[in-house]
Amino acid sequence: MVNLNDLTLEQLQDALVKIGEPKFRAKQIFKWFARGVTRLEEMTDISAKTKEKIKENYNIANVEIWQRFDSKLDETKKYLMELDDGNIIETVAMFYKHGITVCISTQVGCNMGCKFCASTIGGKSRNLTAGEILGQVATVQRNLGTRVSNIVLMGIGEPLDNYDHVVNFLKNVNDENGMCIGYRHISLSTCGLVDKIKKLAEENVPITLSVSLHAPDNETRDKIMPVNKAWKVEQLIDACREYQSVTGRRISFEYILINQLNDTIGHAETLIKITKGMLSHINLIPANFVKESGLVKSTPERVKAFKQYLEKQGINVTVRRELGSDISASCGQLRRKHNTER
Ligand code: SAH
Repeated sequence: MVNLNDLTLEQLQDALVKIGEPKFRAKQIFKWFARGVTRLEEMTDISAKTKEKIKENYNIANVEIWQRFDSKLDETKKYLMELDDGNIIETVAMFYKHGITVCISTQVGCNMGCKFCASTIGGKSRNLTAGEILGQVATVQRNLGTRVSNIVLMGIGEPLDNYDHVVNFLKNVNDENGMCIGYRHISLSTCGLVDKIKKLAEENVPITLSVSLHAPDNETRDKIMPVNKAWKVEQLIDACREYQSVTGRRISFEYILINQLNDTIGHAETLIKITKGMLSHINLIPANFVKESGLVKSTPERVKAFKQYLEKQGINVTVRRELGSDISASCGQLRRKHNTER
């Protein structure tokens, strides 16, 4: 059965007209989804008869808070969200001066196999649907009672490996009848699925593209990211240039610093060379601890030297602040679970 909250407003109108409901009913229901309400019983402006008809013909996917962890180091909150099939995914809320950013998952697990990341251990069990992706943002907003201002698709999963649901989600969360979050306040992070980056450029959803580059040459990238076997660094950079020229948006490159592996001045030099002339920003992330990876974060001295080298060459660079490390909510630390593991 089709999930009503996976549909765009237009598709939802068609679905409701098909069961004999007026078009405006779609907007009513769409607005409930944006408020984090997915139980028909809670939709007070829908009649009992309509609810029955909907139940007979359609599903609605739920995302429920199973547990919330509050960091003691900062205000970060990590949510374990339970899906209807018992899978548990993670969603993180981060508090900044400019507002609340929610980091959402797009898959249950991940197939990309990056050596440093906890989300990919055990592979992918399934894609999240558009409704489950939106459900994370709407549920966090409802739980906090404050408007979410920014979204990052940087939780568990590779968003571009779940292309159609992710694009439907982006359209829905941006919709003026929905959560109405501007595309400029949304960042999608990818390990570099080149064909999908090119497709996204043409989609007319001008979000910020973040690319998990992590190494500027094929030899180094091959060691830590299996995706580099499919698309080489040069192809990835070309796709980024294309995204940039079509959307006019600055590309953000994420670069984890792993001790002695990708953090030499030679790496910094190559990084400058390959991104030359591109409107971009480099976000350095000292690698976070993942016990299975065996990789060690760069020392503060090496991070500083790497950053200063880039800065001296006029590169736009920042070091990402580590948030929520005491509750394993930092980049690369999120992992999927199942409710049988309770
Ligand atoms: N699959 C997408 C979305 C995940 S975003 C992607 O790869 O971009 C999560 C970010 O955290 C990515 O940039 C990822 O490379 C990074 N990351 C993974 N493991 C990490 C670790 N141990 N320390 C720091 N960052 C890590």
